[in-house]
Amino acid sequence: MSISRRDFNKLLLSGAAGSMFGLLGASGKAFAGTKRVVVVGGGFGGASTAKYLRKLDPSISVTLVEPKAAFVTCPFSNWVLGGLRTMADITHNFNALQNTYGVTVIADKVVSINPGKHEIMLGSGKRLGYDRLVVSPGIDFKWEAIPGYSQQIAESSMPHAWQAGAQTVLLHKQLQAMKNGGTVLLCPPGNPFRCPPGPYERASLIAHYLKQHKPKSKVVILDAKDKFSKQGLFTKGWERLYPGMIEWHAASSGGKVLGVDAKAMTVETDFGPVKGDVINVIPPQKAGKLAFDAGLTNESGWCPVDPSSFESTIHPGIHVIGDSCIAGAMPKSGFAASSQGKVAAAAIINLLNGHKPVPPSLVNTCYSLIGTNYGVSVAAVYELSDKGIVSIPGSGGLTPADASDDQLAQEAMFAEGWYTNISKDIWG
Ligand SMILES: Cc1cc2nc3c(=O)[nH]c(=O)nc-3n(C[C@H](O)[C@H](O)[C@H](O)COP(=O)(O)OP(=O)(O)OC[C@H]3O[C@@H](n4cnc5c(N)ncnc54)[C@H](O)[C@@H]3O)c2cc1C
Repeated sequence: MSISRRDFNKLLLSGAAGSMFGLLGASGKAFAGTKRVVVVGGGFGGASTAKYLRKLDPSISVTLVEPKAAFVTCPFSNWVLGGLRTMADITHNFNALQNTYGVTVIADKVVSINPGKHEIMLGSGKRLGYDRLVVSPGIDFKWEAIPGYSQQIAESSMPHAWQAGAQTVLLHKQLQAMKNGGTVLLCPPGNPFRCPPGPYERASLIAHYLKQHKPKSKVVILDAKDKFSKQGLFTKGWERLYPGMIEWHAASSGGKVLGVDAKAMTVETDFGPVKGDVINVIPPQKAGKLAFDAGLTNESGWCPVDPSSFESTIHPGIHVIGDSCIAGAMPKSGFAASSQGKVAAAAIINLLNGHKPVPPSLVNTCYSLIGTNYGVSVAAVYELSDKGIVSIPGSGGLTPADASDDQLAQEAMFAEGWYTNISKDIWG
């Protein structure tokens, strides 16, 4: 089989390369390769890279280090809050990565990276060497940014639920326990942050739940921004499906949260304290802790990378993908992280073979559910330019403002299809 590297990249991103190279590499056996790639984090970015490295070049030995036995996705966690999915539906294990694709999965945490020695240290004290390292640790929170808020407050009374798992369960329980007539305060952060439309999908699906079970209740969004992703589409959906139930307050109209008082269950704004029965504070964010500890971040709090390979511009040999990296026009989304993971896998194979990475195409679609049979989306294809990663004009777009009910129902269906497909593509 003969294929140019340019064609290879095109095939990869169209999804065709996966199945084509799968024929070559799906033996399921990890055999000792001469090249060792270690991937940190089994979420959207890391698991995609690990799987695609093995699919594309089964001679590479790939080790994935992830402390959790199974990964709970943030995508569709809002659907859990809305009563439309269970936690089991959004939980994925690493069995297929191990058994079908021959990735060695180590259930541990990486505590430090030694870029000079090409070595990482695990929580167990074990050291692992690598030829290339991929780091996809997601996000961490700027706890100090909101006076009165802390990790301990998030875990006890005011969950962020911006990393899915125990936090999602806590917020779900609080919503179920809330009285009819209660107020849910939802406090999104300023940009940039994980999943720009996520807080507004959350407001929608909480309202969906409240409308059925506690119809006198309301959702009040106190925003640190003056505008938000897919704003026109969300606002129209709220007026149609949840009239009077969702209030949005822009930062410049007193929406910005200045502090919280967990005992009083209030948040402080320019207009004084606002009381909530359930308070969902989503703090400002930065790259995952490991990225900071390893010195992979710059003054922005995120990791600068070469956009053709996602190799760190600070520590050569280490690729940073997903939410932690600075990826130009791409949003911090699971789809983007997975797309970056595939590009990083292709680039690593080229680099390990002494070739230059090929300028990639990248892709993202973010679906949001506003109600059952009511979905909206934003999509784009990205390329490299002298300004870094930019979206290709006309390559994507938004659900039209005048979309018909059929189109909105179709978008909701596509959202479900998207989740099923991407989950299978990454962990299946
Ligand atoms: C409510 C909500 C809804 C969302 N909906 C969508 C959606 O519909 N579509 C979409 O595309 N995106 C969505 N997102 C965004 C998406 O979840 C993230 O962008 C995506 O998870 C980022 O992938 P990642 O690989 O960077 O990080 P993650 O997927 O978070 O993975 C990071 C992994 O690294 C591990 N890790 C961290 N530190 C270490 C360490 N030191 N050692 C070993 N492992 C470590 C963690 O345990 C974790 O498993 C949503 C987010 C939220 C909060």
